[in-house]
Amino acid sequence: MATHEHDHDHDHDYGSELSEMQLRVRALETILTEKGYVDPAALDAIVETYETKIGPRNGARVVAKAWADPAFKKALLDDASKAIGTLGRVGDHLIAVENTPQRHNMVVCTLCSCYPWEMLGLPPVWYKAAPYRSRAVKDPRGVLADFGVTLPKETEVRVWDSTAETRFLVLPMRPAGTEGWSEEQLAAIVTRDSMIGTGLPKVLS
Ligand code: FE
Repeated sequence: MATHEHDHDHDHDYGSELSEMQLRVRALETILTEKGYVDPAALDAIVETYETKIGPRNGARVVAKAWADPAFKKALLDDASKAIGTLGRVGDHLIAVENTPQRHNMVVCTLCSCYPWEMLGLPPVWYKAAPYRSRAVKDPRGVLADFGVTLPKETEVRVWDSTAETRFLVLPMRPAGTEGWSEEQLAAIVTRDSMIGTGLPKVLS
């Protein structure tokens, strides 16, 4: 076996690496369950919490604060990890990118599924799927159309490719008609997709 060098840096098949990880996770879960250390139902509850509760709400609070507090917004755009740290939250390797009338930002991980889960929870299935990962780069406007988002022609669409070292949080534009709203009210209209860039904040009616 000495002649076979296992190359960890190049030509690695991401797909098989992920499924190996899934196998390992399953093996660990099985052992821990059999030994009585964990209850699978409790694990499911944790996953569910990250998917639907903790996740996107953390990001939504950060966005709402940036909308309401110009100093925080500046700090967030300067150094998102540091700014989020001042709120007592964790957002490692995080960069916040601001949507403006001139530029719309959209986030993808073309290699696998890197995602700011501390801010947004677990990634949606489509984020990890090959069609989104390849099309987001080649045809971002087409992807946006599939999500029901149509932007003015003059708005540039900028696509950011995440890695393990760099995650992106989109700071959507604050909708008109929300003047004087509390941070809590603002957070309620910040959708998960608006922070990935495949959606916009909830439309006010
Ligand atoms: Fe990735």
